[in-house]
Amino acid sequence: MRGTGATIFPVARAMATEKKILIVEDEGGLATTLKDRLRKEGYQVNVAKDGLSGFALAAAEPFDLIVLDVMLPGQSGLTVCQKLRERGSSVPILMLTARRQLTDKVAGLKTGADDYLSKPFHMAELLARVEALIRRGQPATAASRHQFGTVCVDLRRTEVSRDGRAVAVSAKEFQLLRYFVEHRGATLSRDELLREVWGYDVTPSSRTVDVHVAWLRQKLEKDPRNPQFILTVVGLGYKFAD
Ligand code: CA
Repeated sequence: MRGTGATIFPVARAMATEKKILIVEDEGGLATTLKDRLRKEGYQVNVAKDGLSGFALAAAEPFDLIVLDVMLPGQSGLTVCQKLRERGSSVPILMLTARRQLTDKVAGLKTGADDYLSKPFHMAELLARVEALIRRGQPATAASRHQFGTVCVDLRRTEVSRDGRAVAVSAKEFQLLRYFVEHRGATLSRDELLREVWGYDVTPSSRTVDVHVAWLRQKLEKDPRNPQFILTVVGLGYKFAD
C-alpha cells in the first residue's frame, strides 16, 4: 500500500483542487465556446440549456461558480438565482445580461448575483471575472461555512440550511448556534452561554438558554428529543458534537 500511495495521492489532490463551474446558457454556440475555453483553463465544466435543469443541477451538487444567462427558456436566470439564494446557496454567480438591458443588471444583483457581464463580451474579461469570483468566494467560504450532517451554517452570510433548504432562525438563535459551532466539542455551561451570547442585557436565567437550545434542536435535529448535534451534558450544560 505504501508503494501505491505515492502515486495515488497527487492525483487525488489534483482532483480536489479542480474547480467546478456550471454554465446555464441556451445559445448552443456560446455555451460550447465557454465550456471549451473554461476546460482549457483547467476547470471542470457542466452545461445546462435552460433554467429548470440549471437549477436542478446547481441544487444537486456543489459548484464553485455558476455562469448564468438571464434570458433562458422556461425559467429566467433571475428566477434561478433567486431560488438558489432562497435555499441558502452562497455559490458565486456571474450573470450574463443582454447588452441593452440595464434593468437586468440591477435585477440580477438584487436577486443575489455577485457580478454580471453584458453580451457580447471578450473571453479574456469573462475569464478574469471567473477567476476573481472563485478566488474571492474561496477563503471566506472555507472559513465561514460549517457542515454537520445535512445542516450547513454560513457564519459570514448568516445563513442556515438543512437538507439544502434555508432554515429561518432568529438573531439570538443564530448567535447561539455560532457560539456552539465555534466551540465544537467543548462543554459550555449555561452561565457561559448567557454571558457570551446574551451579554448583560438580560436578566440571567438558565431557562433562556434551555428554551433557545430547544428551538434550535427543533429546527436542526432530525429527532429533537434525541439530538445528534447540540448535546446535553448532564449537570454541566451543553456541548456541540465534535
Ligand atoms: Ca439566452
